[in-house]
Amino acid sequence: MSELPVAQERKVVTSIPGPKSQALHARRLAAVSAGAGAALPVYIEKAHGAIVVDADGNHLIDLGAGIGVTTIGHTNDAVVKAVQEQVANLTHTLFTLTPYEQYVEVCELLNKHTPGNHSKKSVLFNSGAEAVENAVKIARKATRKNGIVVFDHAYHGRTNLTYSMNFKAAPYGNGFGPMAGSVQHVPMSYPFRDPAAMTGAEAAQRAITYIEKRVGLEDLAAVVIEPIQGEGGFIVPAPGFLKALSDWTHANGVVLIADEVQSGIARTGRWFASDWEEGFEPDLLTIAKGIAGGMPISAVTGRAEIMDATHPGGLGGTFGGNPVAAAAAVAVLKQIEAGGVIERAQQIEQLLSARLNELKAKYPVIGDVRGRGAMMALEFVEPGTSNPNQAAVDKLVKHCHSNGVLILNAGTYYNVIRFLPPLAISDDLLNEAIDVLEAGIKEL
Ligand SMILES: *Cc1c(COP(=O)(O)O)cnc(C)c1O
Repeated sequence: MSELPVAQERKVVTSIPGPKSQALHARRLAAVSAGAGAALPVYIEKAHGAIVVDADGNHLIDLGAGIGVTTIGHTNDAVVKAVQEQVANLTHTLFTLTPYEQYVEVCELLNKHTPGNHSKKSVLFNSGAEAVENAVKIARKATRKNGIVVFDHAYHGRTNLTYSMNFKAAPYGNGFGPMAGSVQHVPMSYPFRDPAAMTGAEAAQRAITYIEKRVGLEDLAAVVIEPIQGEGGFIVPAPGFLKALSDWTHANGVVLIADEVQSGIARTGRWFASDWEEGFEPDLLTIAKGIAGGMPISAVTGRAEIMDATHPGGLGGTFGGNPVAAAAAVAVLKQIEAGGVIERAQQIEQLLSARLNELKAKYPVIGDVRGRGAMMALEFVEPGTSNPNQAAVDKLVKHCHSNGVLILNAGTYYNVIRFLPPLAISDDLLNEAIDVLEAGIKEL
């Protein structure tokens, strides 16, 4: 479907970044705000499957998928076709003025495939942060309360409310003025760094004690949690943590919001990461990144009575649920529904977890291997300790980039390498990318 075929192979033909990327970068530095950083200034011209091609003709293996966005694969054939057809028919009306079918279809599919058999409704927006902001609005309106609880190491976005919900003030909040009020941070379950024998239920009790003592129930609207934390370093809470938290919110009339912006849409080998824990029953989910193969669209999906508590006109936005982006989302969701995509994420977990655990056994600089599906990570430490080792990760990210593997760091301490490949990646490409990484680890 893409205009020119993109060979699914790694090919490094210049230094990275090459001369054309460097020239583009000079233009960028002159024209683009310094506030928008540049992790790897190679300028990408085209992509397909799991390969991105830069302006100099380098073919890079993509282990990041634009942070878990092109989960279905770059320029996925069905997505390209859906976008091309839709863009020629209708690009905008504003759904809250004169609606169109694609928006409704996305909502139907999300209502069907999100966890829980209760009656659900959805509403669409443009970005993950916008979905989180609106989930909080919806929960506040439904409960007539204000307080929001979030977790250590969390990431929820870059708008005023959502940067106030992030764990790291730097770089997300620092200097941008007053934080949003009524947001309280409580301890997360982080098995690698918690006391060795701490169970999920105990970690949940620790968080609940914080909530009860330091926040109080009186004015608590919602608890917001990433069932697997993204930017925080793919932290998978101990088994039982999410269920205990869920039981507590339901017993106390608090809305439970699962932020599945990074972990949702087949990424972890289930439709949603929430599906992995029996008894974890979020009332609302926020969904974005992987939903539309690279087109900007996001959603809040959840219990119909909570979703309907907002007055007409209270939710919306000019571009939210744009027809072209919605058509792309339908194309992605229908492929997942048809089968094979979720299974591919499970196969990727098997391959990755075998390879990454082998690396951990060989190299004491690796402290932890964790994650689910095609959302796995390595946490690096100073050998023999659990002290975070950011220097190792910095070197490895550079090494991979120079060798044509696009890889991402993560973590509160920047000491985690995360794997978020497009699910279209072949076993051979994935193995080759891990070989490149291992060569870098050997050199440390
Ligand atoms: C990326 C992310 C967001 C923010 O999404 P944007 O589209 O960048 O606004 C929110 N929550 C989680 C868990 C994320 O990973």
